Amino acid sequence: MKIAIVHCGELLTLRGARRPRIGAELRDLAIVRDGVVVLEDERITYAGAADGIKIPGGADVIDARGRVVMPGFVDAHTHLVFGGDRVAEFEQRIGGATYETIAAAGGGILATVAATRAATEDDLLRSARGRLQWMIRGGTTSLEIKSGYGLSLDAELKILHVIRALRQESGLRVAATFLGAHTVPPELKGQPEAYLDHVIAEMLPVVGREHLAEYADVFCERGAFDPAQSRRYLSAAHEHGFKLRAHVDQLSRSGGAELAAELGCVTADHLEQSDAAGIAALRTANVQPVLLPGSVYALGKSKYADARAMIDAGLAVVLATDFNPGSSPVPSMPFVLSLAATQMRMTPAEAITAATFNAAHSLGWGAELGSLEASKRADVVIHDCHDHRELAYYVGVEPAAVVIAGGRIVHQRTDE
Ligand SMILES: [Zn+2]
Repeated sequence: MKIAIVHCGELLTLRGARRPRIGAELRDLAIVRDGVVVLEDERITYAGAADGIKIPGGADVIDARGRVVMPGFVDAHTHLVFGGDRVAEFEQRIGGATYETIAAAGGGILATVAATRAATEDDLLRSARGRLQWMIRGGTTSLEIKSGYGLSLDAELKILHVIRALRQESGLRVAATFLGAHTVPPELKGQPEAYLDHVIAEMLPVVGREHLAEYADVFCERGAFDPAQSRRYLSAAHEHGFKLRAHVDQLSRSGGAELAAELGCVTADHLEQSDAAGIAALRTANVQPVLLPGSVYALGKSKYADARAMIDAGLAVVLATDFNPGSSPVPSMPFVLSLAATQMRMTPAEAITAATFNAAHSLGWGAELGSLEASKRADVVIHDCHDHRELAYYVGVEPAAVVIAGGRIVHQRTDE
């Protein structure tokens, strides 16, 4: 199977340093005008200028008609698999209830835990499949998915099996993260230590042994797990061979950024409340910040992570959706680019690098995804615009016209 995409008005190759991009590097998309991309089976064999490239015989030729062609988005933080929804809670919040008071009353994450426990593996797979289509239509071709709405061994395994099934049937690159320490389940209300005993003794060993997740994650927050508890859980996960990601400093500042640095987490996610000391700690330990403006937006809050300070400090910033039923019903990476630009003062180019190349590195996929270069995986998207800045400029449109993942067209608009 050979595909040649010709007449790429802006071919965003993101060629450059083979490590996460920092500082001014974030603004350099290494754009080729009138570019060509050639795909053979699941790999890119050429991405560059049209001059001098001979289209291989037998290739299907796709005319990009002068539009933007770029790597697929890498969504590095999602909670795609869950039962039910939180529409009623959404309306309560409009009426003035807060995320934390709803959670304290047994709603919030626990409402999704109840619905997820009640759902069959098939139910969960079916609903997640539909939401994955939303993401693909936004130009996402690889993603991370967390468990964490089960909070018992059986229910967590059920979610992790669904993640594995999604990976197999979609053909997308999918990383799995075990978020057993998302919150304390209702049967152990008020006993976070007892729950962590159970997670550490009964869940981590099984998930690790069956290779159902590569990463472990924790929700370090008031009402979930404090820094000492988070440290205990993440340290145990590390001993079981998991790489670490952590939800920190989202609603309150607890020193979570410093904790992520101390433990050598691959990423520290959220960071809306982090201060200069937290940012400095992340820099020293080379932790990538994963910024999730969709959750700030959907919770109706106004304090976004300080992306400019992080970029100035030399952090290799990542952007992701945090797609989940409670705080971020946002599957669209183009919308995240808009939020990054309007609310966090990231330029469109910085946001695109954070959502592709840097995101790929945060998942250990830097050698394979995130840029358009020979030998990389053929995850390529034609967007229906002629200037990459339009991706962050127009809001509420899904500009992806043709989405190719692993050399296969996974979405094509009917007018293409
Ligand atoms: Zn999250």
